[in-house]
Amino acid sequence: MNTVSLWVAELGIWPLIVVLVPNLMFRRFGQSTAEKRKASLYQAIAVFLITTLAASVVKSELTDIYFYVGLVVILLVLIILRGKIFPYRLNCVSCEGSLDIKTIYFMDNNLCVDCRAKKDSDAGE
Ligand SMILES: [Zn+2]
Repeated sequence: MNTVSLWVAELGIWPLIVVLVPNLMFRRFGQSTAEKRKASLYQAIAVFLITTLAASVVKSELTDIYFYVGLVVILLVLIILRGKIFPYRLNCVSCEGSLDIKTIYFMDNNLCVDCRAKKDSDAGE
């Protein structure tokens, strides 16, 4: 049985495209997004490895067990490197207020609009 591998393999490069398209948007925000930009590239690499793994399992006519074993290895690496790969926070690091989607996904400083404005004005003085 390789139904799961076959299903993942048939997705082809779509998962990769879904991960990479938001990555193109990082240009707009410049250097203050460097860490999260890298994180989304790591995620793309992980997605690429998972789809490649599924394709190899299907091609070699192996069972889903091989896919699961490979998947566990990839997930373990993701967990070990989670600080780099998932640097997201839902709350402001300064006031614990909730963050907007743009800040959560793009901005490295994890500051809410108010705290960022405050920090910018402090830096400007
Ligand atoms: Zn704040």
